[in-house]
Amino acid sequence: MDLLAIGFQYVSALMVDALKIFQSPSPNFGNRRDYVTPKMVVLHYTAMKSSDDAIARMSDPKSEVSAHYLIDKFGKIIQLVDEQKRAWHAGRGCWGEINDVNSHSIGIELDYYPSIDESFDKRQLSSLNNLLFDILKRRPEIIPKSIIGHSDMAPERKRDPGKNFPWKKLSDKGLSIWPENVLDNGDVDWPIFKHNANIFGYRSANDTIEEWLNILNVFRLRFLPEQKGKLSPIDMGTMIALAKDWPHVKINNSQ
Ligand SMILES: [Zn+2]
Repeated sequence: MDLLAIGFQYVSALMVDALKIFQSPSPNFGNRRDYVTPKMVVLHYTAMKSSDDAIARMSDPKSEVSAHYLIDKFGKIIQLVDEQKRAWHAGRGCWGEINDVNSHSIGIELDYYPSIDESFDKRQLSSLNNLLFDILKRRPEIIPKSIIGHSDMAPERKRDPGKNFPWKKLSDKGLSIWPENVLDNGDVDWPIFKHNANIFGYRSANDTIEEWLNILNVFRLRFLPEQKGKLSPIDMGTMIALAKDWPHVKINNSQ
């Protein structure tokens, strides 16, 4: 049964609008490796017909999946796993130097079914904003750059939160980042694209063409959702702008 928890234990007394967070504890969690504190947030969609179905799945020990929070289409925020614990939402993949993303992140699922739903509900996005504001306020080690999509860290396997997720609007609120100052770089050059993608945070396990095409796809899903076809000057300029303004790791610039 959901338990109404106005003034949840984490909510700062300074907050103007207290977050309403409902509780639906899931058994699917463990300890964060070395008891690290989360440095990032991973956003997902559930790809299930209803939030009840998603909660049931994330609460079934056999499924071995969970997330810290689920936000339904009406904006109701449900917490399944304590933030101090390691929820099982990210799976295999990496972002920058982080390989065990579950240990280092907070996972938020959005109730959304990509083959039916088009835009995300305003109430759902408003609750997401409020939850992210609250998380950033409580956890200064998480910065807007570190709020990413599941697809960003698992380009071979995942496409959520998908092409309709409004990353630009999130960035306008200071809750993510957006490439500004994109130069029209006329040269299309895969090594330069890959180098800048690595600086921004994307990772390819084996440096294969297939992996890089997946990275190109998920990068476009987030930053250039209308872009199709071969690597283009706008892809180049956008990735270079991201790497310049939002470098994840400093790597040798000799490539
Ligand atoms: Zn996901």
